Amino acid sequence: MAQKEAIIFDLFETLITEFANGRRKVSRASRDYGSLIGLSNSEFQQQWNERQEMRMNGGYPTYRAVMMDILEKNKLPYVEHVIEALYQERILEKRVPFMDINTDVIDLLKLLKRKSIKLGLISNCTEEEVRGWAECPLAGYFDEVIFSYQVGYAKPDIAIYQLACSRLEVNPKHCMFVGDGGSNELAGARSAGMDAYQAAWYVPDFISSKISGFPRLAEPNELYKQFLDKQ
Ligand SMILES: [Mg+2]
Repeated sequence: MAQKEAIIFDLFETLITEFANGRRKVSRASRDYGSLIGLSNSEFQQQWNERQEMRMNGGYPTYRAVMMDILEKNKLPYVEHVIEALYQERILEKRVPFMDINTDVIDLLKLLKRKSIKLGLISNCTEEEVRGWAECPLAGYFDEVIFSYQVGYAKPDIAIYQLACSRLEVNPKHCMFVGDGGSNELAGARSAGMDAYQAAWYVPDFISSKISGFPRLAEPNELYKQFLDKQ
């Protein structure tokens, strides 16, 4: 068994969470896309979801670019101040999970840093989703941070794991990956040659139980135990 030199973390629902007690910390229920842009909330959500991959891999470089495309395809007018207001709202909403960091997660990072292990982050995200990162208490623990929208590919593309390993100067077989499992990221990490672990501390059981085949960690400190076992 290869000794581990680096651990790569997912961000959302692994280091931080957008949920509290099974609900979003920021409710979106009050927004009415029908009156704002002319698409019902469910139509908008569908169009937004259809563009998920291109939002993550930089295909749409900005929030404006996604919205422009949605409106154009639906022959709806692009009203600058409406889109700008939605964008600003989204920035505020996405900052929320960075504001209260779980102390168990910080304790884990401290323990790992004491072992001189390298820490990396790979997040599938867009620019406005990670504005809170640089100032949040987690940032200082990480040696390399990869945001998908900046590098042009996203998990589970093997290239993004290879990029992280190359920046961290580790062989993937000396690397652990931990994430809640969104975007099929655990299978991607395994394909890249890493040991992958499922972070199950934030996501509700009914979601996390859909993922199988990876060691399931109920608490952040279980990752530390797994790391010690590999030494
Ligand atoms: Mg995640």
